[in-house]
Amino acid sequence: MKIVLASSNKHKVQEINDIIKSKGISSIEFILPPKGFNPVEDGVNFEENSYIKARAAWEISKTWVLADDSGLCIDALGGKPGIYSARYAETPALRIERVLNEMDEKEDRAAHFTCDMTLLNPKGEVAFKHEGRCEGTIIREARGQNGFGYDPIFLVKGDTRTMAELSEDEKNQISHRSIALNAVLDYLKTII
Ligand code: IMP
Repeated sequence: MKIVLASSNKHKVQEINDIIKSKGISSIEFILPPKGFNPVEDGVNFEENSYIKARAAWEISKTWVLADDSGLCIDALGGKPGIYSARYAETPALRIERVLNEMDEKEDRAAHFTCDMTLLNPKGEVAFKHEGRCEGTIIREARGQNGFGYDPIFLVKGDTRTMAELSEDEKNQISHRSIALNAVLDYLKTII
């Protein structure tokens, strides 16, 4: 079964295919959308943006589609950067710097990564959706070289390491994206 991943990011497709292969699933393969995938992500939350991306990919493929929308939500900042995670500042380093500055005086360091996935069937209907969450806290100085985005300032709950200090495999065990993907795969197993 081929499923279009509503993303223009080849690495994301590869990452998800690697995860499912590592789980011994060979009947599902994620592929890039056809040319012309250009969604306007103007939803007010992750769930809406995930649906917008899924629908845009479905319009041009009319097959099974999976979309995700993810980001970092910080309690003391009222959930920011949230859906603005990717554009909170110009570069990843500046985004981290902005968050650390905004968190400078804050005692409450609680935060979570969220990933909202939406699976559409070939009729364009929502077959399944799930929100994966990974809890943690924001530390005061970036640590670690792995991962991407806000990983170096996100201390994983129940661990002494930041997300950027985990190996790729370790991150894949606990990440918001893996949690959402596992739920989607459990659903898919019931229909294939
Ligand atoms: P996207 O929806 O997967 O493109 O993610 C949007 C933005 O959220 C990314 O550009 C990152 O800034 C942030 N983000 C999402 N997932 C992660 C993660 O696993 N680690 C660090 N940052 C993330």
